[in-house]
Amino acid sequence: MKKLLTVGEILVEIMATEQGFGFREPITLVGPFASGAPAIFIDQVARFGQPCAIISAVGKDDFGTLCLDRLRGDGVDVSAVSQDPERPTGSAFVRYRPDGQRDFVFNIRHSANASIAATEETERLIAGCDHLHVMGTALFSQAVIDLVLDAARRIRARGGTISFDPNIRSELLHLSGLREALETVFAMADLFMPSGNELFLFTKAQTEEAAIREILDGGTKAVVIKRGLEGASWFSRDGHVSVPAYRVEEIDPTGAGDCFGATFVCCWLRGMAPAEALALANASGALAVRKRGPMEGAATADEIARLVRSASRL
Ligand code: ADP
Repeated sequence: MKKLLTVGEILVEIMATEQGFGFREPITLVGPFASGAPAIFIDQVARFGQPCAIISAVGKDDFGTLCLDRLRGDGVDVSAVSQDPERPTGSAFVRYRPDGQRDFVFNIRHSANASIAATEETERLIAGCDHLHVMGTALFSQAVIDLVLDAARRIRARGGTISFDPNIRSELLHLSGLREALETVFAMADLFMPSGNELFLFTKAQTEEAAIREILDGGTKAVVIKRGLEGASWFSRDGHVSVPAYRVEEIDPTGAGDCFGATFVCCWLRGMAPAEALALANASGALAVRKRGPMEGAATADEIARLVRSASRL
């Protein structure tokens, strides 16, 4: 089976238990939970049963141990996750606005994640993996940008493939070099996986149809659009298909897009038909929102397949 690699932040998430309160007054929080978009993604890949690895860094502290134990326990190769004795594990505090939108207080750039850089272990993984998944949030330092672009070029040169989820966080958009890095990754990606307005990040097109045509004409093999409660769609030069979402009770929206992406990429690497891959990926996203905690809802391949067989669609 093909081995999948991602690069980027691992952190713990600590979240408000109730909607509607800010961080300017004492509130009840719950956590720590292992988190970070690339970490959620790769944990779901492992739970789906695909060989996989992450290049990252955590601190030599309890938060780091929690994250490492969780990823290793689920089957992720963490041989290239370094433990920084000088800096703490990254963290994010999350609170929910009354309308369900989330606000974050991040500590990533000054956490152990700042020490992610090329090492012997990262070299070994890049040489041994078949597919690279890039997430926009991961590109938070020049060292990570260099590492990701180098990995992408080398994996592609060996005949491997690249998927790209822009996963744009407005808090991070001001970072220098990010825009250029996103454009470079986009140009190399086989699979482009935006949600919402991210479809228009690299095109001046005004409509979805025109944007997709331009992206496919530019050489991207397929575009997969995540549409939340509307499900998801696949577009390639051979055609397109949309598959509705599953009806579940949403407890915590964090992680849906990452789990969806992980399951979709695994199915794509296994050569599954787009409609089947979308159904499994939608089920994976739906299961992700049913549990509190960013990666607590990452489900096994059996659990995901069971939802596809049994559940009603939205
Ligand atoms: P992102 O978090 O990247 O914006 P989405 O919110 O679109 O991604 O979620 C990815 C997928 O997860 C959706 O396409 C959908 O299939 C599923 N999903 C997300 N939220 C829900 C929900 N509340 N109920 C059921 N399925 C959901």
